[in-house]
Amino acid sequence: MNFEISPRIEDYRARIAEFVAREILPLEDDPDAFDAHGNIALDRLGPLREKARAAGLWCLQLKEETGGAGLGKVGMAVCYEEMSRSIFGPVVFNAAPPDDGNMMLLEAVGTPEQKARWLAPIVAGEVRSAFAMTEPHPGSGSDPSMMLTRAERCGDTYVVRGRKWFITGAEAASHFILIARTSDDPRHGLTAFLFHGDQPGWRIERRIPILGPEEHGGHCELVFDGLEIPAENILLGEGRGLKVAQMRLGPARLTHCMRWLGLAKRCVEIARDYAGERYSFGQRLADRESIQLMLGGLAMRIEIGRLLVMRAAWELDRGGFARKEVSMAKIHVANVLHEAADIAIQINGARGYSRDTVLEWIYRYARQARLVDGADEVHKMVLNRFLNEEGSGFWRWEVAAPPM
Ligand SMILES: Cc1cc2nc3c(=O)[nH]c(=O)nc-3n(C[C@H](O)[C@H](O)[C@H](O)COP(=O)(O)OP(=O)(O)OC[C@H]3O[C@@H](n4cnc5c(N)ncnc54)[C@H](O)[C@@H]3O)c2cc1C
Repeated sequence: MNFEISPRIEDYRARIAEFVAREILPLEDDPDAFDAHGNIALDRLGPLREKARAAGLWCLQLKEETGGAGLGKVGMAVCYEEMSRSIFGPVVFNAAPPDDGNMMLLEAVGTPEQKARWLAPIVAGEVRSAFAMTEPHPGSGSDPSMMLTRAERCGDTYVVRGRKWFITGAEAASHFILIARTSDDPRHGLTAFLFHGDQPGWRIERRIPILGPEEHGGHCELVFDGLEIPAENILLGEGRGLKVAQMRLGPARLTHCMRWLGLAKRCVEIARDYAGERYSFGQRLADRESIQLMLGGLAMRIEIGRLLVMRAAWELDRGGFARKEVSMAKIHVANVLHEAADIAIQINGARGYSRDTVLEWIYRYARQARLVDGADEVHKMVLNRFLNEEGSGFWRWEVAAPPM
């Protein structure tokens, strides 16, 4: 086993850390740098994205031929964590959801023509994208087999009718990936389509007000009432929609974790800074054992999350699916993020509850982590399924090939 990272990845990490500290963190103290939904204002984002691109820190997750750096998931884990020292970090480097997961999916499954038309403009930073799968009750949520949105084939075109909700970024997106039902086959009933926001036959019903800060374009409810999609805009083939969704969501869950770890570490940083200077009853907070136990325990749980993420990243990089590993990482890191924000607010007292630090932003944001891309309970159900199938093999070690 080897827990070292390559000098190349360390070089990217160090350059990202320096960029975040110099260019992005100062914006968090400037109220004008925020848009109406708690994200970075677009007029501030544009120039920063240009600088990140000029610095060679753009779309690092993608292959070099797509315009990225081919970092692999292990390299991404290192770099995404560093980007997320700032709440504004990932979007500056074009590593924020939903574009991040959409680009990786299109790179993996798009035909050359689909990549040129749908992926290249996102990589160029010219358009934003969205992934539309979840539906309101009684449609598809945790269980995709409940999908009600239908795409009926009429010649070379599919006509879509139905409703989606919580579609992140929809108000700002031009390129959409849509999962819809094309048959009642239990395994091959869903299909993934690409469509452009300018096409007629669909609308945004509302931008759903939420607890936390919002990605650009919000979280929207969409109505499809006759959207026509040509067959050439199917991803991976008719009936492969569930496969596309799995390929989209597995790595995206893990990149969520990478970013959440960066935010959790930031919470520790803010808590330690305050505990180091704040006195009560004649003693520095940092010198009190109760505070030390809070921070020491939290640091350990963050490190457990990093190990789970790295284990899953390693598995994905060597061609595995890492379903177990991603589920474990997702549950643990989502909860650690919530805990980190909570502990840091506690240590900061009233200051933590204010908007003088980003802790309250992270706390409101963190609650979604235990729901998005599979609620905790669903991932635990998946883990129990593996336990039933594998028994004690659940914890087996992978054995390396003997030396030649
Ligand atoms: C901020 C945010 C952004 C999102 N962005 C997108 C997006 O861009 N695109 C998209 O398609 N979707 C998006 N979603 C939707 C998200 O993926 C779903 O919320 C998630 O899959 C859960 O589905 P649901 O909300 O319908 O929960 P439901 O399926 O209604 O489940 C409700 C609750 O029931 C419990 N539960 C469900 N199944 C089980 C089980 N088997 N065992 C035990 N308990 C269970 C869980 O506690 C769960 O939270 C987003 C959601 C949020 C909050």
